Amino acid sequence: MIKRMMTMNRGDFKILDQKIYGRPLVYLDNAATTQKPQVVIDTLKAYYETINSNIHRGVHYLSQRATDEFEAAREAVRRFINARHAYEIVFTRGATDSMNLVAASFGRTFLHEGDEIVVSKMEHHANIVPWQFLCEDRGCVLKVLPFNEKGELCIEQLDQLITPKTKIVAVTQVSNSLGTVNPVKAIIEIAHKKGVPVLLDGAQAVSHCKVDVQALDCEFYCFSGHKMYAPMGIGVMYGKEEWLNKMKPYQGGGEMIKQVTFAKTTYNDLPFKFEAGTPSVGDAMGLKAAIEYMESIGIENIAAYEKELLDYAEKRLSSIEGLRIYGQAAQKAAIVSFNIDKIHPSDIGAIIDKLGVAVRTGHHCTQPIMDHFGIPGTVRASFAIYNDKKEIDDLYEAVYRAKNMLL
Ligand code: PMP
Repeated sequence: MIKRMMTMNRGDFKILDQKIYGRPLVYLDNAATTQKPQVVIDTLKAYYETINSNIHRGVHYLSQRATDEFEAAREAVRRFINARHAYEIVFTRGATDSMNLVAASFGRTFLHEGDEIVVSKMEHHANIVPWQFLCEDRGCVLKVLPFNEKGELCIEQLDQLITPKTKIVAVTQVSNSLGTVNPVKAIIEIAHKKGVPVLLDGAQAVSHCKVDVQALDCEFYCFSGHKMYAPMGIGVMYGKEEWLNKMKPYQGGGEMIKQVTFAKTTYNDLPFKFEAGTPSVGDAMGLKAAIEYMESIGIENIAAYEKELLDYAEKRLSSIEGLRIYGQAAQKAAIVSFNIDKIHPSDIGAIIDKLGVAVRTGHHCTQPIMDHFGIPGTVRASFAIYNDKKEIDDLYEAVYRAKNMLL
């Protein structure tokens, strides 16, 4: 049943129907960005062909139409992650932008010399570097929660890591390098017992599992549209109303103000206080279309299907002698990172590319993970709803051939 539904979906992604170096494209770089279904492409086209206009400030028809569509997209995101209020949804350029927003704004408001920020060792650089800026500028201290050899966070150490000086815990829900699905509910409970707010990086989670920010009870939740079938250039920063109200704005400019004089400027209400300048209206509409697309398939169906692909891929790849999979957590999303003994990951990537198989190689913006394992990088295959087992067979064959050529 699930299988049939997924096979039908492949037709929604014309880009997949092409040959690369004379071979059918096998696109397995979905953790970097997913392809976009036709409905998302059509939505973008329709926006620019029919209602393109700047929003909020216009009295004319097109501006009002564009404003209504932009706010409808906000409502769709609210529903998708089950936020209490639409004004807790702030549109950004992506997860990186969202986390920079929280770090800068939270930092300006609450952080002082000696305050501590807890992140994990498996964070994407986008959830490390913005906090390091604060450490440099404000004299804060970054503390790091480690992970074990399976790639699972040592959450038994979290309680001790959080001290009276800890101001925020910022962790990823799903690791983009290891595929680990972290026990974020438990992490939030531990932090909350000590009165510490939690930011979740949901960049790799939103396309793979149902997210309910009220049930999770996180203070901030950040993600990108382009990893969940939506256009590039749009992302979301969810924040609980009480925190957003207290936080100083991130960027200054149009839209985020109530009144500007040279003596004093007052700020707009939520969410506009955090949305300076012209937003990406068409992309927000594309995000809404992508959400509706995923909802029409059912997030649970997507998760179950991707689990099937993950299990199959791990089984096939691990039958290759000398191949090691990094990230063996009990709970994993559809990401397999691996290396073959004595072979550089980028050599494998380059050869299998010529066989039509697109994967990512390198450190995946998680250098601390690579340092932990003492490796320069990995080969990463990541799956989405339109992939199938035949493509995993193609990956297996290509990797097998690359190994034989390189050793
Ligand atoms: N966090 C994680 C876990 C990611 O995988 C990524 C993208 N690789 C990001 C943050 C940053 O996302 P973006 O580049 O879309 O801002």
